[in-house]
Amino acid sequence: MSATNEISAKVRAAGVVGAGGAGFPTHVKLAAQAEIFIVNGAECEPLLRVDQQLMARHADALVRGLRHGMAATGAKEGIIALKAKYKPAIAALEPLLPPNVRLHFLKDIYPAGDEVITIWMATGRRVPPAKRPIDIGVMVSNVMSLINVAHAVEEDRPVTLRPVTVTGAVKTPMTLIAPIGTPLAELLARAGGPTRPDVAYVGGGPMMGHLLHDLGDPVTKTTSAIIALSEDHIVVRRHRQSMQSVLRIAKTTCEQCLLCTELCPRHLIGHELPPHLIVRSLNYNHVGNPSTLLSALTCSECAICEAFACPVDISPMRINIALKAQMRAQGLKYEGELRPADPMAEYRLVPITRLLQKLAIQQYSVPAPLQDEVLVPAQVVVRLQQHIGAPALAVVGEGERVRAGQLIGEIPEGSLGARVHASIDGTVTAVTPEAVTIRR
Ligand code: SF4
Ligand code: SF4
Repeated sequence: MSATNEISAKVRAAGVVGAGGAGFPTHVKLAAQAEIFIVNGAECEPLLRVDQQLMARHADALVRGLRHGMAATGAKEGIIALKAKYKPAIAALEPLLPPNVRLHFLKDIYPAGDEVITIWMATGRRVPPAKRPIDIGVMVSNVMSLINVAHAVEEDRPVTLRPVTVTGAVKTPMTLIAPIGTPLAELLARAGGPTRPDVAYVGGGPMMGHLLHDLGDPVTKTTSAIIALSEDHIVVRRHRQSMQSVLRIAKTTCEQCLLCTELCPRHLIGHELPPHLIVRSLNYNHVGNPSTLLSALTCSECAICEAFACPVDISPMRINIALKAQMRAQGLKYEGELRPADPMAEYRLVPITRLLQKLAIQQYSVPAPLQDEVLVPAQVVVRLQQHIGAPALAVVGEGERVRAGQLIGEIPEGSLGARVHASIDGTVTAVTPEAVTIRR
């Protein structure tokens, strides 16, 4: 078996997925050939404290994971892109770098972690609209994913644990390591619970995250944070806003000030995407250049237009999301070319300090120290779909004894997917098409 195939096979067996986004199966990604392999260590969502601490604590495993990734993809150059302010991570990584791997220091701006922006900042290459990084020879992977790659390749260790930052209006902000399937409520309890009664919870970051409706839901391979905020907090209200309300405000208040477009990161680096024209087109029964509307398909959903740029609380992003759903259902594609980048692009990306103010979360921008001890839940509910692709098929039955790391969900034959493993020792108490429940 070639080195590429061997690495990919071990990564597949361990169930590694992209830990920073939607959970694309890593073994599929590693099957491509690349020139440059980038570790995305930006962690630009305000309040998240996972990757920056993992890079400091597990620098060695990260560099080894990167080398495996480079070997699998044939990449000759490796770049670890992280913020200049992550001093402990930089100090831990610098002595470990092989000659063909360098650090790239990112400014403390948002969205430095949007992979299209990370690539541009770290290499000067620009991903054309509707294309993928690999189309310009670049592979990007998340910190946790590459640490998991190192564990998979060197120890055949499957993915069973997930670090999660618990922060915001909680007694003791911290970053916890939880077996996959642990109820979110247990993480919240370990952080001391909420500091106020009227609290809502956001999963992921305040910009690109989502409201958590049930704290009984389990941790998955892509869970990065639980953020407690008051019910009337601007971030929570933004998430609760109905689509009817988004459309009504857009129709009645858009003053075509252009700020959403002038600050759109994708537009700044030379993509057509002009949110102000999409809002205008929508307000006037889709008049305008058809390509303009189609460019909504290239929106990264970074939320800059909605949460930072628009002075009258319009959400071009929500409009783009709705348009994307319609266009994808019709099989439409965007085919516009890359244009020249805005000469001021670098200076128009948003400093995190200003974003914290705008989102009214400065008081929550505090350390959330990574805890050594792994949580010990009495029961886990391990979802069979924690990734892009087909759900895994359960390969265990009720009453069966399983050990942590044992395979419990297999990729369906011929499908895109990822394997799923038991995260604790125990007895399987329920198996459904959605999840396997294990009681310690
Ligand atoms: S969410 Fe808004 S700012 Fe971000 S890429 Fe989409 S249109 Fe641009
Ligand atoms: S920033 Fe708001 S008001 Fe200005 S053009 Fe964009 S949607 Fe309209």
